[in-house]
Amino acid sequence: MNASAPLLRLSGISRSFGEGDGAVTVLRDVELVIERGEMVAIMGPSGSGKSTLMNVLGCLDRATLGRYEIDGHDVASLSDDALAQLRREYFGFIFQRYHLMGHLSAQGNVEVPAVYAGIPRSQRSSHSAALLERLGLGKHLSHRPSQMSGGQQQRVSIARALMNGGDIILADEPTGALDSHSGLEVMHILRELHARGHTIILVTHDPNVAAWAQRVIEIADGRIKCDRLNDTPHAVNASVTSETRDVSSCPPRSADALTSDAPDAPKMSRGNWLTRWLSGWPTFAESLSMAWHALASHRLRTGLTMLGIIIGITSVVSLSAIGEGTKRRVLNDIGNIAPNTITVLRGKDFNDDKAAEIRTLLPRDADLLAAQPYTDSVTAQVGPRTARMRFGRIDTDAQVHGESADFMRANGLKLARGRSFDASEVERQAQVALLGENTLRKLLPNGGDPIGQIVLAGSLPLRVIGVVRDRSSMFVSRSLNVYVPWTTVASRLAGQQHLESITVRILDGHPPAAAEAGIIRLLTRAHGKKDFFTFNMDTIVKSISRTSQMLTLLLSFVALISLVVGGIGVMNIMLVSVTERTREIGIRRAIGARRQDILRQFLIEAVLVCLMGGAVGVVLSYAIGWLVATFVPQVSVVFSTNTFAAAVACACAIGMLSGWLPARSAARLDPVDALARE
Ligand code: ADP
Ligand code: MG
Repeated sequence: MNASAPLLRLSGISRSFGEGDGAVTVLRDVELVIERGEMVAIMGPSGSGKSTLMNVLGCLDRATLGRYEIDGHDVASLSDDALAQLRREYFGFIFQRYHLMGHLSAQGNVEVPAVYAGIPRSQRSSHSAALLERLGLGKHLSHRPSQMSGGQQQRVSIARALMNGGDIILADEPTGALDSHSGLEVMHILRELHARGHTIILVTHDPNVAAWAQRVIEIADGRIKCDRLNDTPHAVNASVTSETRDVSSCPPRSADALTSDAPDAPKMSRGNWLTRWLSGWPTFAESLSMAWHALASHRLRTGLTMLGIIIGITSVVSLSAIGEGTKRRVLNDIGNIAPNTITVLRGKDFNDDKAAEIRTLLPRDADLLAAQPYTDSVTAQVGPRTARMRFGRIDTDAQVHGESADFMRANGLKLARGRSFDASEVERQAQVALLGENTLRKLLPNGGDPIGQIVLAGSLPLRVIGVVRDRSSMFVSRSLNVYVPWTTVASRLAGQQHLESITVRILDGHPPAAAEAGIIRLLTRAHGKKDFFTFNMDTIVKSISRTSQMLTLLLSFVALISLVVGGIGVMNIMLVSVTERTREIGIRRAIGARRQDILRQFLIEAVLVCLMGGAVGVVLSYAIGWLVATFVPQVSVVFSTNTFAAAVACACAIGMLSGWLPARSAARLDPVDALARE
């Protein structure tokens, strides 16, 4: 495109670190031009600024002063993403310490730059395999860096540099960590690449290595001391090159292509942030598999991160299942307890000591109430009295309720077998009884037909005529009940003529409050004063459902807290892992990852961890629910699909929220800083 411009031109480049008095100037006023196809060695003693220069050349770092042009384009005018694309598609880095990623295989490492370039998987894997094959690593495709020698690792890193073309190879002390034989091998490869048209820039402190280049630039104290052509570069050794021939299967692009879009590279995204963000999504599957590899290679860390979420999701799901179960149970119980009733009792309230002396509640009050338009049914009541029940050799304490003939309807009770007593039996104080099921079980533990049997209440013989189903309720489940005509209880057990309470069942659809007011008015007039109080089931029902709602709310709150704690745990460990993986992030950035690639990688890791934790949590809650249902039958557990949807949504949201901060701090790392940290 800009044929007249040199490939790389540095003019007046300085680089200093720090500010003010503490500033250290590492590069001073560097003037340098490098043309296409050159092989240049930058040589100087340790600490002279070679690596700093290399980082500026490779766009890993920006100069403090001066102008750097690539193919005539001022680097200062390029965005961070554009620099990432430059690194990804035109530069290939080779580092002294290889900088491979330990959790990826040789082939996996080589493919990373192509992943960021959006090259499809099949193309990527055949190309990387071919590159490794040609570098003599055909048998090591699936080996981890730790399973390879230094020379082999350096060859892997060369293959990685070539993966997207590697027009300009930047090698910082490529032989520094290698034995002399491996070092020679690497130099042969670089010479071969040069011969194929790659521009090679080599940094070394070793004159023997520099001797391989055609041009040697000596640098000392951040200044260029000498820039000379090497008339007698090392000859290419035929025996070594024979195995490294055709190193790059895709011929290097001409440097003119620098600013045009390469055919297999993704277009530089333009437009608003949304389209820029979405432009990365075709590689979502890649990001996912990358995240999976990163997580799988750090099992302990992943497990610990998940633990918080597992606990959080487990508590959310199981507590809400228990909350839901309790709510349904309470509603069910209320349905069992409560036909809509109002009970009239003697005295001011339940705590009135003098109530027992009040004898004004009489059968005619019950008759009066029965005649009201809002009344469904009425039962006059004496008791319940605790009495010793005896049958054969078994005896037990039970609650003896004196009731009217209509008591089952008024109280919403159901007959299990036999029959109830009628008005005439109440009239003549018949000694008959209906047993509650609990009482029956207690008195006839071996079963058998109770109907027609005689039981004793204290010393009063009663003939059993029926069995009443006990309410299955968590409030009144285990009580032992016996139902007897109220007249029988009044005269034979209590020795009195008056009633102790009257329960009125209100017709469905009648407002209970109005009925209650009516009852109070009526009885106050009949008694001449208010020597009674009323007890409205409707109020109780409302307060119970309020209580159960409070309970659900409380459980949700507890669960929410544990979720938040879990999320903070994830954030914590992710933050630590960002620090721990700084070098990895630096490598990724050096080989072309954009900030958003890093951001997305860490976000996806966080979400993935949370989703996996969520899945484990859901399974655990099922197990807990099963255990609870099996061993604590009083507690009901009801799982709903809503709960699961909420759990998954929670896990995702927690992952996003807790992953955001670490991901952002990872994405903000500068490539050089990140690489410098070992
Ligand atoms: P070389 O690669 O030639 O051995 P470097 O370019 O790595 O040398 O470093 C040159 C000098 O710059 C060294 O004295 C080093 O301490 C200093 N230096 C490099 N990077 C930084 C930095 N980020 N902050 C401060 N000083 C730095
Ligand atoms: Mg160095």
